[in-house]
Order: sequence, then structure tokens, then C-alpha cells
Amino acid sequence: MSGQKKTAAIIGAGMGGLATAANLRRIGIEVTIYEQARAFARVGAGIQQGPNSVKVLRGMGLEERVRSVAFHPEMTRYRDAATGDLLWQRTQGAEYEEKYGAPQLLLHRADLHEALASIVPADVIQRSKKLIDFRQDGDGVDMFFADGSSARADMMIAADGVHSMVRERMHGPEQPRFTGRVAYRTTFPTALIKNVEVEGSTKWMAKDRHIVIYFTNPRKDEVYFVTSTPEPSFNIESWSTEGDLDQLLREYSEFHPIVRGVLEACPAVHKWALVERDPLPFWTQGRITLLGDSCHPMTPYMAQGAGTSIEDAAILARCLADASTSDIPRALKIYEANRKPRTSWIQASSSTNDIERFRREQDQVFSYNAWETPLAA
Ligand SMILES: Cc1cc2nc3c(=O)[nH]c(=O)nc-3n(C[C@H](O)[C@H](O)[C@H](O)COP(=O)(O)OP(=O)(O)OC[C@H]3O[C@@H](n4cnc5c(N)ncnc54)[C@H](O)[C@@H]3O)c2cc1C
Repeated sequence: MSGQKKTAAIIGAGMGGLATAANLRRIGIEVTIYEQARAFARVGAGIQQGPNSVKVLRGMGLEERVRSVAFHPEMTRYRDAATGDLLWQRTQGAEYEEKYGAPQLLLHRADLHEALASIVPADVIQRSKKLIDFRQDGDGVDMFFADGSSARADMMIAADGVHSMVRERMHGPEQPRFTGRVAYRTTFPTALIKNVEVEGSTKWMAKDRHIVIYFTNPRKDEVYFVTSTPEPSFNIESWSTEGDLDQLLREYSEFHPIVRGVLEACPAVHKWALVERDPLPFWTQGRITLLGDSCHPMTPYMAQGAGTSIEDAAILARCLADASTSDIPRALKIYEANRKPRTSWIQASSSTNDIERFRREQDQVFSYNAWETPLAA
């Protein structure tokens, strides 16, 4: 019924779910997030946010907060792993910011998550609520949780990540494709690094593997690294596990002394399977749609997974802003139509890990402003 306050259930309180909750609340939708986890841990990981994502955060009133906790690199360097020769460098100072309308920011993943959570009232997030079943009718969606409880809303937004059960119900069971590679990643105090000096943000590239190293705060007192390391035998079921430091050092023994210096200083590391999917044929069924990694998981080589989830949240809010409750299915289709071409293209580009291609396409990635881009009907 037109004029009635719309209600939305969001499954998952990751970057995509939180950004969606904040943006839907701003347009007057009554939102509840259902999150399976009881609490969020500060896992050692950094995250890059490109100008396209920072522009969305600006519209959400979060730019200053995120800038204040992030490292803002003047330059990202791409170096040959063994010799350290410069392959490419991207200047990211004032000119870059002016060109793309926002900076490139590097920060701790938990700081970005906390920033997004800070604009979502605590009582909007229901924890220990694992969605196990759902049904929709002409007016809304009923949801059923592992603890025996249920809920109903006018629409359900599934931001439930790469292993999304909602995606599985829409498209059938299918594991994400394991790339045969793992990411070792961690954050630790810069002071532990002896004898070598770390640059602000560098990707060290060999033929079959790479490592990205950067600071995660303006003080530069915490350093992060993430690798892409071949390991086809990794048991993908374990998804994330403790990494073996000796093995890591062996894997990167041919790398430049700066890289080895960082790895030798590292006290502990986690290991993640790197997975991806091809673009899905559709994201929306009636009053249910997918958002973020549930519909466009990608390799992290362009550092765009969370950024594109945050973009999704802005476009979804724009599509729903003027929709009555009966218009919701149409508004969700319009959201999908406006997002799928861009995210499918970024999934494909990221998968190549081709810096020549990234260089060619960066204008298209970073110039995008989800608040202003015209919406196709
Ligand atoms: C090594 C690595 C490095 C990366 N680096 C970057 C980077 O630099 N920049 C960038 O932008 N992106 C990066 N990404 C990608 C980014 O982490 C993801 O794209 C992003 O976290 C996706 O957010 P999401 O909200 O869609 O999903 P998630 O963050 O996975 O959140 C899903 C949430 O749903 C919950 N959930 C799942 N199932 C259910 C259920 N049945 N019921 C209730 N709750 C449920 C989960 O507990 C979780 O909290 C990286 C990824 C990796 C692996």
C-alpha cells in the first residue's frame, strides 16, 4: 500500500549489509539486519577503498571518520618481485583526488566495519540469527532462523556473503570456484620490522604469485600484507585457517629483501582460499534480491569487493526511495539492472590480475559515483 512505511530484512551484517541498512534507513525504510554471528572479531586484515567507494561513504556522512583512521598513500607502486624494479606507479595525491573526486584510502578492515556499524543503531542488528529458510508471497517475505524464531518484512536483501544460502536457493547448489590460490594475510606493528624500510603501498609481482604490503593507519605504525599464493591442494572447506610462517617464508624466498624482511617480522598469519564465481543470470526474485559477495564475489586483485558492495547499497536505496510497497519487486529489478553490468565487468577484470588492464580501466572504476550516476529504468 502506497504511503505505508516499508520494511526490509537484511541478511548479514558485513560491509554490504551494514551499508544497506544505513542507506535504507535514511530514506525512511524500517530495517532489521539478521546476522548469524554472535560477535565480530578484529581479524588482522587491511582493506583498500577506492574513490568510487569513498564517494559513497561521503554521502553516508562517514568520509571524515574513515579518513581519520586510514592511511592515504601518495603513490601505489608495482614492483618486480625479485629485482624491485618499478613496473608501474599510480600517483594518488591531490591530482588523483581531484580527478576521481575522492582519495584512495587504506585501513584496517575492522575500522571500516566499525565506521559502517556506527551509523546503524545497535537494536537494528539481531545477532545469532542464522537464516535457514524463507518463503515469499505477494506482499512480503517470511524468514525462519536456526533458533526457531521467524520474522516477516516487505522485502529481503541477502547480503550473506560468498556462501550465500539465498543465492543457493535461487540458483541451486554450487561451490564458488577455487582459484587454486590462497591469500596469506595479517596486520602487525611496523616496529617489529628490522633492517628494511617499507613503502606506503606496494604490490610485489612475480609470474605466479604476488604480495601487497601497506600501512593501515595515518601513523604508519601498523603494516598489512596480503598474498596470492598458488596452493591448489588447499582444503577450501576450511575457508580460513592459521597459516604456517615457515611455509610462507619458503614461498617468498626468491622475493626482494624488503618483502622477506616484512615476512620475517610477522608474528602470525591467516590463510584464506581465494574464490570467485561467474556473474549470475539474475539477482532478484520478486521481493528478494542479492547484494555484495552473495551475487558478485571476486578475487581481491582490484580491491573492489567491499567497495562494489557499498556501491550496491547506494544504488539500492536510490531505486527504493520512491517505491510504494507494491512497487518493491520492480524497484529491486531496477537495482539489479543498474548494478549487474558494472559488477560483472569488475569481476571479470579483477580475475585477470593484469595490471596493464587495471591501468586502462581505472578511470571507469574510480570515476563512478553511485549517488549521481544516471539510473537506467
Ligand atoms: C584476501 C582478501 C582481500 C580483500 N581485500 C579487499 C580490499 O582491499 N578492498 C575491497 O573493497 N574488498 C576486498 N576484499 C573483498 C571484501 O572482503 C568482500 O567483497 C566484502 O567483505 C563483501 O561484503 P559482504 O557484506 O557482501 O559479505 P561478507 O563480508 O562476507 O558478510 C556476509 C555476512 O553474512 C553473514 N551470514 C552469512 N550467512 C548467513 C545466514 N544464513 N544468516 C545470517 N547471516 C549470515 C555472515 O556471518 C557475514 O557477517 C578482499 C577479500 C579477500 C578474501
